Amino acid sequence: MLAGRYRTTEILGHGGMGEVYHGYDELLGRSVAVKLLRPDLRDPFAAARFQREARAAAVVKHPHVVAVYDFGHSNGEYYLVMELVEGRSVTHELALHGPLSPERAVGIVREAAAGLDAAHRHDIVHRDIKPDNLLIDVDGSVKVADFGIARSPGSSTLTTTESGTILGTSYYLAPERALGRSATPASDVYALGCVLYQLLVGRPPFEGDDPTTILYQHVEVEPAVPADLPAPVRDLLRTLLAKDPNDRPTAAELAAWTFSDRPAGRATGLTPARRSIRRRLLAVLAGLLVAGAAVTAGVFIDQAGNTPLIPPEVLRIHQPPHSAPPSRVTSPPTHPVATPTATPTATPKATSKATPKAAPKAAPTAGVTKPATSGRTTAPHVPSAKPPRVTPHPSRTSPALAPAPTAGDQGQNNQD
Ligand code: ADP
Ligand code: MG
Repeated sequence: MLAGRYRTTEILGHGGMGEVYHGYDELLGRSVAVKLLRPDLRDPFAAARFQREARAAAVVKHPHVVAVYDFGHSNGEYYLVMELVEGRSVTHELALHGPLSPERAVGIVREAAAGLDAAHRHDIVHRDIKPDNLLIDVDGSVKVADFGIARSPGSSTLTTTESGTILGTSYYLAPERALGRSATPASDVYALGCVLYQLLVGRPPFEGDDPTTILYQHVEVEPAVPADLPAPVRDLLRTLLAKDPNDRPTAAELAAWTFSDRPAGRATGLTPARRSIRRRLLAVLAGLLVAGAAVTAGVFIDQAGNTPLIPPEVLRIHQPPHSAPPSRVTSPPTHPVATPTATPTATPKATSKATPKAAPKAAPTAGVTKPATSGRTTAPHVPSAKPPRVTPHPSRTSPALAPAPTAGDQGQNNQD
């Protein structure tokens, strides 16, 4: 019994930060979900982060966001009491029924986007959107869960979380975050785009044997969008997965998207200037990959800097102490937060001196799939045993879903 009122029973799930139990609130006489901080994380930093999660989630009141009821400390345990979602996670849904039809996949993502939009309206960026953190209630409605690494407005202390490092899950990490920039609402939208891709295709858009390979693709490689998807859905995927955050739709636009819509978002083409900046970024990234060539199952990304080039200390690549076991079928492995103490002790010169010329040679050394010299390419789907596959959904090509083709079918967006 927690705080004299919450009785916990069976475990419902667990993640990088806590264990979630079915609970019963004796005082109010209702079933709840109770998240307990993992025993090995019961330190002041983790407790503070847990409280921030509670506060961030409590601010957002929306039918598509898991409601927070209570937070406290009892019997040596930090606990968060939430609305009980008596369904399953999107990970589980994918395992059971994936890949999903376009209607179902888009429906899930649109509802999640509505919840995210509510968070974004409060200036809260979720930063960890992935199938594990999207729950489907028994009535079929989707709820965004786990604001564990969410960033709230004015919460400057967040940059001290994990000593200035945060971690997303590399399969869902937006290019700008891979490059060390702060997460924005557009980064959440990108992550949701990765989830949509996975719901439709059965695997995330970019795979690889290590996070650096995946991050490289997020930055530089165009996702391979299956030709048998309805054209509007292909266009939607392309805009959600746009490399430039400004080219993506907002969560509100995604929530309002319909199959007859023109593509949400803005033009996806890169200006030469932007491309050149990206190339420089890639050069630095490649240099950093060399620095971390003893690769790597975990990636740390500092949130403090917004500078266009990644400072050497920002992107740290190293072996985490522990990786959570992959979820049952479709969820790719995550690369959970660890303390920054494992940062490589010596940063090779190449890290700080990386030049665009040096990068192309260096990248393959680090196992990157494509050197940074060429223009953007289509995802090669680097073979990986990690995210289990599921076969395409038979209803994908349903003619009912394929409205008149949009002009060009090349991700042309004319939102403005
Ligand atoms: P972590 O911060 O450790 O990742 P999450 O909040 O993501 O924890 O919860 C882990 C898992 O617990 C989820 O993937 C889900 O299966 C289950 N879960 C979380 N919140 C709820 C809830 N409110 N109702 C039912 N199950 C939940
Ligand atoms: Mg989680």
